[in-house]
Amino acid sequence: MATTSDVASLASAVGGDVVEVKTIVPPGTDPEAFEPRVSDLLTLSDADLIVRVGLGYDLWIDKLIIQLHRPEFQAGGRRSVDASTGVPVLEVRGRNPVTEDGHAHGLGNPHYWLDPANADAVTAIIAEGIIGLIPAARDTIVANRNRFLATLHERIVAWMQQLAPYRGTALVAYHNSWPYFARRSHLNLIGFIETKEGVAPSVAHLSSLIAVMRQSGARAILQEAYEPKNLSEMLSARTGVPLVVLAPTVGSVPEARDYLTLMDFNVGALARTLATASQ
Ligand SMILES: [Zn+2]
Repeated sequence: MATTSDVASLASAVGGDVVEVKTIVPPGTDPEAFEPRVSDLLTLSDADLIVRVGLGYDLWIDKLIIQLHRPEFQAGGRRSVDASTGVPVLEVRGRNPVTEDGHAHGLGNPHYWLDPANADAVTAIIAEGIIGLIPAARDTIVANRNRFLATLHERIVAWMQQLAPYRGTALVAYHNSWPYFARRSHLNLIGFIETKEGVAPSVAHLSSLIAVMRQSGARAILQEAYEPKNLSEMLSARTGVPLVVLAPTVGSVPEARDYLTLMDFNVGALARTLATASQ
């Protein structure tokens, strides 16, 4: 059982036929605003292994686990995988895992899967979790992971080539979902429409963001597929900077069917927008 579609896709890539992967957060919904339902408790009770994003992103699962009385599913438990374990975390803050407005950027930025190079560490810890439960499947799991990583590493080279002409380009985003993606692609995130995770901006914030965008020559406004578009559209109209809708999670746009197509979609959409913006 994977909390989100992103870790679900990586668990499927590693587990192959050995596992059946189910996801709790429905595709196309914002996992940071997710409230579990009673039916999720039933789904979870069938699980053999839990894979979570960690860093407070899917803290709601702990409530379900407590209700189920399954301590082995708890963080650190024998049937629990925290996919963030081996990932170098950005924006480490050491606050409560979930901030007072309910958004999970308290421990650090949780959107680490958007750097495709982090899939190495994520698939390693998932593979370890599956092999721990089914030692006989070790060779299959290791082979599945190696095959997936070979494809991924080839694609990373191609993705970075697609974005290479835009190295250092200034961008703004609606939500702070993209620091891992931006670091890998050498893009420069200079500001956010939200003043804090999950908090709508004031007029004063938007005015200063417009000034910063003009000063730094921002070339695109990144918009998460499931966030409201009206403010990004207003900002785009005021500055002439194009708006590009990206997929923060697998399933948040129809093209992002799995982990590889998620990256394909984001890199392609951003490269097309930046190519037009620089003409
Ligand atoms: Zn977030």
